[in-house]
Amino acid sequence: MTTSAASSALTPSADLPLVIVGAGPIGLAAAAQAQSRGLATVVLEAGDAPGASVRRWGHVRLFSPWRELVDPVAEQLLSSTGWVAPDPDGYPTGGEWVELYLAPLAAALEATDEVEIRFGRRVVGVARYGRDRLVAADRERLPLTIHTQTATGARARLNAAAVVDASGTWTRPNPLGGDGYPAAGETEHADRITYGIPDLTDPAVAARYAGKRVAVAGAGASAQNVLVGLGALAKDHPETRVVWLVRRPGTADAFGGGDNDQLEQRGALGSSAQRAVTDGPVTVMTSFRTSDIELDEDAGQGRLRLTSFADLGTGAAPADNGKVVDAIDEVIVVTGFRPDHTWLSQVQLDLDGELDAPARLADEIHPAWHSCGSVSPHGADRLRQPEPGLYLAGMKSYGRAPSFLAMTGFEQVRSIVAEVAGDQEAADRVELVLPDSGVCGGSGLFDGAPADVGCCGTSAEPELVSIGTPAGGCGPSCG
Ligand SMILES: Cc1cc2nc3c(=O)[nH]c(=O)nc-3n(C[C@H](O)[C@H](O)[C@H](O)COP(=O)(O)OP(=O)(O)OC[C@H]3O[C@@H](n4cnc5c(N)ncnc54)[C@H](O)[C@@H]3O)c2cc1C
Repeated sequence: MTTSAASSALTPSADLPLVIVGAGPIGLAAAAQAQSRGLATVVLEAGDAPGASVRRWGHVRLFSPWRELVDPVAEQLLSSTGWVAPDPDGYPTGGEWVELYLAPLAAALEATDEVEIRFGRRVVGVARYGRDRLVAADRERLPLTIHTQTATGARARLNAAAVVDASGTWTRPNPLGGDGYPAAGETEHADRITYGIPDLTDPAVAARYAGKRVAVAGAGASAQNVLVGLGALAKDHPETRVVWLVRRPGTADAFGGGDNDQLEQRGALGSSAQRAVTDGPVTVMTSFRTSDIELDEDAGQGRLRLTSFADLGTGAAPADNGKVVDAIDEVIVVTGFRPDHTWLSQVQLDLDGELDAPARLADEIHPAWHSCGSVSPHGADRLRQPEPGLYLAGMKSYGRAPSFLAMTGFEQVRSIVAEVAGDQEAADRVELVLPDSGVCGGSGLFDGAPADVGCCGTSAEPELVSIGTPAGGCGPSCG
């Protein structure tokens, strides 16, 4: 066994591969990077096909164009197979991202000598070989052990020189409850609650909401997608009504940068959502942090009543009730995601107590300071964990922060894999130019908890590289 000096971790070999958790856009990009460096690599994917999480929101159109959704090294591998790249200026749906890119990429990777993808393998544990988290001795010298489980419950172990956790956050949506736990009654009324963006172009799904009174909780781009979809549904079914529940006291800054948004499609989505509020079926309930969901006996027909935590003044005792929304038929929860660290309980992590993201990354991505969408490119230095050879990457590396972009993830894994391969110079280099969303105090890029405080913070290092705005600064709407 050889060790990489920079990370004090083992160097992958055929007997002791690099293991990547998740065959999503970032896990597969990591595998492409590893393949290009000749590293023996095993990808473990819980789903039965590549892009399993992206498929779940396959009907949603991305607001990044193709040119920002294809990893450069993956493209090189694909090109060698005769793959025809989609129009770089086109905007795919999640389904197209999978069919036209992730699935061919997985096939191309599997055809190489270096990469093996094992589908139907959920990672349920990572440990240092034969040691729990408390044993300090020899951690750098021993491999990591990955515990997996199939859908039928069969468990297996696999040893690895290094592990890149690119398992995303899609499978752990935040609950409706305003304090981060399920609201009282949330489990009992689960049959009326949907988490994520329903496919309203599917007639069976649309029928569930047509002509109904629907509560939508959340303020990110996913919530805006839902508002736009319900607004369109209301054109054919004018009785459809939407109550939009937001935690913040107003929605003026919730719609992104509009025409000024550097992410053009995101700006368009925000403008459409705004129209659904001003001219459509949507009414807004601000400062609403759901506390309870229960049957609304007065409305009948199994309708629901939602109650907010009371709005407390400083030092005030809790009042009985806050605001109330009644006669609700259906609830759609789009309040963001959180990472699952439960299966990393036997390895040493350094996570930010607020975001659940790598501590060294947290300041770079905190929505309170980066609501402008201005996140610096970063790599192994911020993502490596105290456990030698372990890295968090992709959507999961952002923890509860909402502003992850795939191209950020491509840069992350380029740097991580370089470090795993022992190429520290490449690992330390920054090779990415990120677009700025041009939004200040706006909603999170996708979902989640928009900041309650201002924007426009600066960070000391590394230097921000952005298009359209000065380094560390804000977009045109910055007050
Ligand atoms: C609705 C929506 C729209 C978005 N639009 C954009 C956009 O326009 N532009 C942009 O740049 N980004 C966008 N994003 C953000 C981000 O780029 C995507 O979420 C992207 O899919 C993240 O890739 P990932 O590989 O980190 O995670 P995922 O795509 O979530 O992939 C993780 C993979 O890991 C697997 N997995 C999970 N747990 C385990 C386990 N324990 N063991 C084994 N496998 C596991 C999952 O099955 C999945 O295949 C969007 C996100 C959402 C939700």
